[in-house]
Amino acid sequence: MTQVVGHLIDGEIVNDNDQTQDVFDPALGAVATQVALASKETVELAIASAQKAFPEWRNTPPLKRARVMFKFKELLEANRDKICHLLGKEHGKILHDAAGELQRGIENVEYACGAPELLKGEHSKNAGPNIDSWSELQPLGVVAGITPFNFPAMVPMWMFPLAIVCGNCFILKPSERNPSATLYIAQLLHEAGLPKGVLNVVNGDKETVDALLADTRIKAVSFVGSTPIAEHIYTKATANGKRCQALGGAKNHAIIMPDADMDNAANQLLGAAFGSSGERCMALSVVVAVGDKAADDLIEKMTASMKALKVGVFDNTDNDFGPLITKQHQEKVIGYIDSAEQQGADIVVDGRALKVEGYESGYFVGATLIDKVEAEMESYKAEIFGPVLQVMRVKTMEQAMQLINDHEYGNGTCIFTRDGEAARYFSDNIEVGMVGINVPLPVPVAYHSFGGWKRSLFGDLHAYGPDGVKFYTKRKTITQRWPSSGVREGASFAFPS
Ligand code: NAD
Repeated sequence: MTQVVGHLIDGEIVNDNDQTQDVFDPALGAVATQVALASKETVELAIASAQKAFPEWRNTPPLKRARVMFKFKELLEANRDKICHLLGKEHGKILHDAAGELQRGIENVEYACGAPELLKGEHSKNAGPNIDSWSELQPLGVVAGITPFNFPAMVPMWMFPLAIVCGNCFILKPSERNPSATLYIAQLLHEAGLPKGVLNVVNGDKETVDALLADTRIKAVSFVGSTPIAEHIYTKATANGKRCQALGGAKNHAIIMPDADMDNAANQLLGAAFGSSGERCMALSVVVAVGDKAADDLIEKMTASMKALKVGVFDNTDNDFGPLITKQHQEKVIGYIDSAEQQGADIVVDGRALKVEGYESGYFVGATLIDKVEAEMESYKAEIFGPVLQVMRVKTMEQAMQLINDHEYGNGTCIFTRDGEAARYFSDNIEVGMVGINVPLPVPVAYHSFGGWKRSLFGDLHAYGPDGVKFYTKRKTITQRWPSSGVREGASFAFPS
């Protein structure tokens, strides 16, 4: 009998096995385990547990809350191999890539360790005669996070460490496609000393999410996933009076200027386009080459190095990337390559027929390079989320920037050039939230904040870092006067100035 991945409620693993869903090993193309899908009753238990834990956690000194995170960081590092193995088995990413994901997650825990500093607020002495005024950052209460399959460790850690050190209680709904690493990480936080109920994990799908969105006891929702679902979550959460940040999909372009260091650009693009099978919201999926010479040079160099890419199973670290997440997703990615071909693009390197020896049923697609892509093509308009790099050819940098600015997504972008003035103009005027200059994956570090523009983010505040602190707290401003003895002054009816 396959084991069922359960929920973590009030510090205990709970299995409500009424409804379950298969979890696949994508390299084998076979069921690896099953995950419980939380019923409304299970969601209710999680909310009740979080509600109960909140008053005490809210009043726990920030330094003590931070100490739990210091210990959590140690446990994450001590159990790195196990976490990476769980990530690889259910997601398919190669162990070195899983280690990178985990490290970026740990960096958010490190940032959360600064809670006493982050929550100090602001103070003004003598805001008026003998009047002091200060602003403090209070927790919201019970907040929820809903996360995607592609970063089962990192994206949850964009959310719950910071929410929790800010004094909130958190309910996490991880992706049902690869729940094991996330659940294990939540158990480690309890091992680090987190009181019961401060973090609850409910596995599930739409029904579970809808139950969270409908409940008025949940004050805020952080979401990361695809754009249609992000928009749905944002609309529903805000209609129900919740604060919401909903991060969506992407189509990230790199402009290749004629003066770029082409060897460096080709090399950087390999990892940025094909790493993690292109299943990253910051994956670079479109190259906009300024001038045919830049396009031809880049394609020549990339074609040569793409031949050497190794695709296979997660625990062979010679591999560069692994399978896609599901059979349906594999078919979808191949469908986009087919459509580009049918609409007149050139398939320069074709990964559609790839078979990995010993893993013939795995959901693999090989690295694919498509040239002469046009803005009207389906493969350009949609987020493919696979190991597919598309090349577009334009004559000027302005045309390249116009393409990017016209696209519905605005998550990440980058420019390869040796010209500082062109790079400065680009970063100043491009309609995208995260910009790289000769840096293909400009994922902000944990002490900045992560977020796209346009339909890549619904809401006002970006994820983690300083925006994360703002998102998970509400400001209260207190103005105080202490008369020296009794009320010495007479009443004043003028507006205070
Ligand atoms: P998804 O939108 O299918 O699922 C995300 C979460 O929403 C999951 O927990 C899922 O269970 C839940 N969900 C799915 N359908 C739902 C519905 N109808 N109602 C309520 N909840 C629902 O996304 P995914 O396939 O897991 O992840 C890939 C997507 O996430 C890509 O589009 C990628 O760009 C995006 N992503 C964005 C960022 C970012 O920071 N902008 C980061 C990582 C991934």
